[in-house]
Amino acid sequence: MTAKIIDGKAIAAQIRQEAKNEVEVLKDRGVTPCLAAVLVGDVAASKVYVKNKRKACENIGIASVLHTPTAEISEPELLKLIDELNHDQAIHGILVQLPLPKHIDETKVIEAIDPSKDVDGFHPYNVGRLVIGLDTFRSCTPAGVQELLLRSGIDVAGQHVVIIGRSNIVGKPMANIVVQKQKGANATVTICHSRTRNLPEITRQADILISALGQPQFVKPDMVKQGAVVIDVGINRIDDPSSDKGYKLVGDVDFEPVSKVASAVTPVPGGVGPMTVAMLMVNTIKAARMLLK
Ligand code: NAD
Repeated sequence: MTAKIIDGKAIAAQIRQEAKNEVEVLKDRGVTPCLAAVLVGDVAASKVYVKNKRKACENIGIASVLHTPTAEISEPELLKLIDELNHDQAIHGILVQLPLPKHIDETKVIEAIDPSKDVDGFHPYNVGRLVIGLDTFRSCTPAGVQELLLRSGIDVAGQHVVIIGRSNIVGKPMANIVVQKQKGANATVTICHSRTRNLPEITRQADILISALGQPQFVKPDMVKQGAVVIDVGINRIDDPSSDKGYKLVGDVDFEPVSKVASAVTPVPGGVGPMTVAMLMVNTIKAARMLLK
């Protein structure tokens, strides 16, 4: 068997086009969605992520503003900036790029964001709403995975979804999304993590295996049931002397051999990654639309 490759790039482009149309409708009604990005310090990967997110905004007509405090900013100063953005009526979404410098408490910063502008879906208020099945801002990466499955015609209802990873950004919200009594959900869910015993035994039971642990090519074919769907959230750098940059990006899944066992698989890059940015656009539009109600 050779797995179908799920094209996240194409699906994300479709979502961005839909988002663009929605932005036009909002503009006709006098609202230009606006995202405020806060990039603290000088972390190369964070700079790239924020640049890509702002570029996506620009391409679909969402306005964006960027705040770039230095890594030396104090926690009270950062909280003051968040407070100003909370009160700025022209700003609909606030994105604080993580990780933050060690002297700043990330939880405190996330909790300081007005939940109605929390387009990353990290605020405990929104996480709580997700858990009890209410409409909310959902963390962009797991929401993107659900959308990828839906638009690929893969129904998770009644299926055993096994997730590797229990982070607040991917693993836990992923489980909470697919377990709901809702369209695109109703799955039986198992979460695995660093203390899980007999991991391959559990992953082999998955109808849909979602890997979000951050270890290059960790998932091998003997961990995957014949015909399973494999979603690779991982983004890992490995040395590649043949590339100009000296590295290449790979997922958590050993793509080639796993493709021979799975029925469908997402590539890295070009799978889940583009969906994350697309869902951020969707959430920002949702935040702007909420003002009209
Ligand atoms: P994290 O480091 O916060 O969490 C990793 C999780 O994996 C932990 O819960 C840990 O318990 C588990 N884990 C680690 N080693 C394990 C092992 N050997 N067996 C079982 N479980 C193990 O990471 P994260 O923020 O959730 O990100 C995970 C990966 O997804 C990273 O590669 C990250 O770069 C990537 N990521 C991609 C996107 C995207 O847009 N595609 C977005 C967010 C994160």
